[in-house]
Order: sequence, then structure tokens, then C-alpha cells
Amino acid sequence: MADDRGVPHATGPSALTPVSEHRARIASLISPAPVESRALADCLGLALAEDLVAAIPLPPFDNSAMDGYAVRSVDVTEAAPERPVVLPVSEDLPAGRIDSPPLQPGTAHRIMTGAQMPSGADAVVPVERTDGGTAEVEVRAPAQPGANLRRAGEDVRVGTAVLAAGTSLGPSQLGIAAAVGAARLPVRRPLRVLVLSTGSELVEPGSPLRAGQIYESNGLMLATAVREAGGVAELLRFVPDDVAAFHAALAPHLERTDLIITSGGVSAGAYEVVKDSLSGNGVEFTKVAMQPGMPQGAGRYRGGPAVVALPGNPVSAMVSFEVFVRPALRAAAGHHRAERPVRKATLTSALQAPSARRQYRRALFDPETATVAPHGGPGSHLLSAMATANCLLEVPEDAVELPAGSTVDVLLMD
Ligand code: AMP
Ligand code: MG
Repeated sequence: MADDRGVPHATGPSALTPVSEHRARIASLISPAPVESRALADCLGLALAEDLVAAIPLPPFDNSAMDGYAVRSVDVTEAAPERPVVLPVSEDLPAGRIDSPPLQPGTAHRIMTGAQMPSGADAVVPVERTDGGTAEVEVRAPAQPGANLRRAGEDVRVGTAVLAAGTSLGPSQLGIAAAVGAARLPVRRPLRVLVLSTGSELVEPGSPLRAGQIYESNGLMLATAVREAGGVAELLRFVPDDVAAFHAALAPHLERTDLIITSGGVSAGAYEVVKDSLSGNGVEFTKVAMQPGMPQGAGRYRGGPAVVALPGNPVSAMVSFEVFVRPALRAAAGHHRAERPVRKATLTSALQAPSARRQYRRALFDPETATVAPHGGPGSHLLSAMATANCLLEVPEDAVELPAGSTVDVLLMD
């Protein structure tokens, strides 16, 4: 057997799980949430669950594209700066006027941008080509039939799908939805994710740090990554390294949680509270052929919510989230683009990598030259380079040495 990159499955007790296999397992655990109807303002970042079909045309009616004068083009064919055509102004048409007084031959209506075109008029002369008169107007230039008009339906016809199911709803998408008159949209309910940090060495940022302690950072990082991926995150930090306390901390949240993400407590040492608590309770722990992020766990807590147990080193936790959790979360939320964009890039310097494991390096991608430079070392405690990188560089499982000039895949992070 081989995974999608042609890496043989090892067998025996020390076998590593291929990245693709662990990814598929996590994707299968995170089920799509039900579709619900939400007010547009509450849809930012969510995925549209059904095509949005326009029930009205856009523009909804023929209207003026300029502030100026609605005229019959035949009345102004001779107009020139030195020989203006003078027309009586019979109506003032601001945007929003809902009656539409017809235009009589040989007259003009003063009209503003967005106001409905009167019947009988076939062009608008911009105010800049007139004297701006209100009782009568000197027209100083001709106008072609159709000049400075926006035709009903020229942007969107009735029945057009303006947004396809699976579209991620950002400001422009919400704008078109409002423009065609939608007040609510069908979206998948955001997944409810409990992010849990364990470790007796962890203290709250902002409080004094004693020797042997570090500030808790994974919780905030993963909870905000969940929110950015369209989920709702609840954060439980400072869960003690104690099995009974771990179960007790989870209990009140189980009913309203779709997914539990833990970090830390999954490697080979003593005091691995996540592993000790979740093994035998529906979660399996495995070594994935990946660096960083080898120890991983996944399953369902006592048959209930999905669980993804990530390693504790901050870089491992973040890379694991990117590789395993983010695409699964976004796919379950209905986004048709669930993955980060991947680009081919030329490596600027040689890289060494471990054999039989896929390595993800923090890196800087230059879109102008399609080159990529490793950024910081591979160590999974080196968080600062993660914060200034713009991509993850993927070193395939079978590569131990990549010379400068090699072509690699990069996952764009911004
Ligand atoms: P563990 O897997 O629990 O042994 O953690 C591995 C490393 O990650 C240790 O250096 C931990 O101190 C660190 N670590 C674990 N959890 C967190 C966290 N929530 N925030 C920051 N560092 C952490
Ligand atoms: Mg720990």
C-alpha cells in the first residue's frame, strides 16, 4: 500500500501513520453542521449553503450614471460650446424619486446619479457639459443615444445565481446579497469547538513568570485559528495535569461541543494527561510521519464530540492545526475552498530533512519570483519565525536533501 505521495506504509509496532491517512481520519470525524438561516450581518466568514438566485435584475430599473440632464439625443445633436442648445427644464429627478414624469420633446429633466430615467429620454448630458441651469439649461455637447445610462439587468439578470453554494461570505459577497434584496442567507451553523490547554508549567499572560513557568500561548492561538476558520471557539486553559480533573473539566461542555481540540500531553513522557485521559475513551494516539507534529490523537470522546489531540510545542500545534484541522473544519462548514492555496516555488537554499517524514518548514514565499526561502530553523519550539513567515514549505517524505533550485510546494498562509 502507498499513500498519495507514493510513500510505503511501514508495518509493525514502530510504523508511522502517513500524513494523508491522519488527515482523512480527522476529516471523517468532523461532520458538517446543520444549515440555518442567518441575517446577513451574522454571516461574515461563513459558507453559503445554497446558490443565491437573483429575484430582481440589477440595476432594477434604467437609471442615470451621472448627475446631469435627461434629454432626447435628437434634441441636442447640434449642441457645441459655441452654439449651445437651450432647453427648458421641466422636472427635478433626485435619486429615490419613485414617480417617473415622462420627458416631452424639446425639454430636459435635471437628473441625479441613480435616479430613474424618465420615459421619452434616451441619454443623459453630464452637468459638466452644461451651464447647470435649473429653469432652463444650456447644453454644450451632443449625447449619443444610451449615453450615461445604466440599463436594467445589465449587471444581473433575474434568475442568475449571483453566489454559488460553498462561497465564503466576505464583504463583497454580502454586498451583492444585500443588493439583490436578500435579508437572510442559508449557511451552515458554525462548529462549536472547545480548545483545551493542559500543563502545570503554564501561566496566564500578564501575570508574573516564575522560573520553570511559561506563558500559555497555544490556547489563544488555536482558539483564534478556529474563529478564523469560521468556527466558534470556547477556551479552557490551565486544566491541571490530572486525569480526574481533566474529565471533570470536559463534562459541562460535552452537550454543546462539536469538536474538542487539545494541545500538549500526548508525547512519550510521564504526566501525559491528555493521552492518559483519552486513551480507552474513544481516542487513539499515533505517530504521524510528519515533522513537526509527530504525536497526534484523534477520535470521539466516549462516543460524543470529535477530539483532535495536538502536540504541545507551539509550532507543532499550529502546523498540525493547519495540516489536519483547518481544512476539515472549513470543509465541514461548507466552504468549497477548504484548503490553503498551494503554489510551486523554487527553493533559494539547500535544505536537509528527516527521512520518511513530511517536513513543514516556516518560510517566506516571494510571489514576484516564485521563490521560497526557509525562515528560521525546523525546531518545534521556534515560534517567532512562525509569526513572521508567510507560508509553510512542504518537504516530501522521501526527500532527505533538497538542493537550492528544487521545486517545492508552499501553502500560502496570508
Ligand atoms: P507536552 O507535549 O505537554 O510535553 O508539551 C510540549 C512542549 O510544549 C512543552 O515545552 C510545553 O511546555 C509546551 N506547551 C504545552 N502546552 C502549551 C501551551 N498551551 N502553551 C505554550 N506552550 C505549551
Ligand atoms: Mg504538558
